[in-house]
Amino acid sequence: MEDLIQLDGKNIVVMGVANERSIAWGVAESLYKAGAKVIYTYRLDRSREKLEKLLEKYNYPAEMIVRCDVNSDESISQAFTDIGEKVGTIHGLVHSVAFANADDLKGDFIDTSRDGYAFAQDTSAYSLVAAAKAARPYLADDASIITMSYLGAVRALPGYNVMGIAKASLEACVRYLTFDLGKDGVRINAISAGPIRTLAAKGVPGFNDIMKMIEEKAPLKRNVTKEDVGNMSVAMLSNLSRGVTGEVIYVDSGYNIVG
Ligand code: NAD
Repeated sequence: MEDLIQLDGKNIVVMGVANERSIAWGVAESLYKAGAKVIYTYRLDRSREKLEKLLEKYNYPAEMIVRCDVNSDESISQAFTDIGEKVGTIHGLVHSVAFANADDLKGDFIDTSRDGYAFAQDTSAYSLVAAAKAARPYLADDASIITMSYLGAVRALPGYNVMGIAKASLEACVRYLTFDLGKDGVRINAISAGPIRTLAAKGVPGFNDIMKMIEEKAPLKRNVTKEDVGNMSVAMLSNLSRGVTGEVIYVDSGYNIVG
């Protein structure tokens, strides 16, 4: 059993650490505990600086830190070429990236602009397809990819608006990618996390009320943490889950099943 959980010496790429609150940082911490070597991608210089401070604070090594703007094919391609050339084989990929224009998360969904719709899809859903494609030449034959989704993919949640549509698309991308990646033995799954107070969550209207509702209504009567998501990520990236692909795994205190 220990062998199945261990990610000893495995190269895992983590996309999306903006700061200590990021879900991707929770995943990275769990990965270190499982013995993985972590490669980070970032978009903004200030994210890189924050990441470097975090690594220093907790004394974690980074195998590599590479810039990757998921809105740019060139940036994605360059990042994964650099990673592949340095580490050789990628055993896991954590896609923890999403963005929508603030204006499209306020007001009515019906007012979403054409550009805002396309931008949310591009950044939050297509980016998974593009990253998987760029990583593919370097993926190990039992590699695993995970992405982060939210309940707004399958329920109409007031205020989640255009991001709900992007998450629905993201979950569909996961299902369709299973065929292509499955030919190489590679798995891909989504983790649908309950609400966690992060930078991205600040843009979601009524976020505090949502967290309160989870405490009241979810079977576990508590909100989940980025550590909860990190630990499930280790399960989904390791051979513990080797028979699972194309799934959406809820880490949400059971809230999604409540009627
Ligand atoms: P976060 O703000 O810490 O992370 C979002 C990351 O996306 C940031 O690191 C940001 O730099 C990155 N990003 C945005 N645009 C990018 C671009 N063009 N190129 C590269 N990177 C880009 O917030 P988070 O809550 O940790 O979000 C991580 C993922 O988890 C997102 O997909 C989010 O939708 C999802 N999620 C969050 C919650 C929650 O309640 N916080 C719940 C379920 C799912």
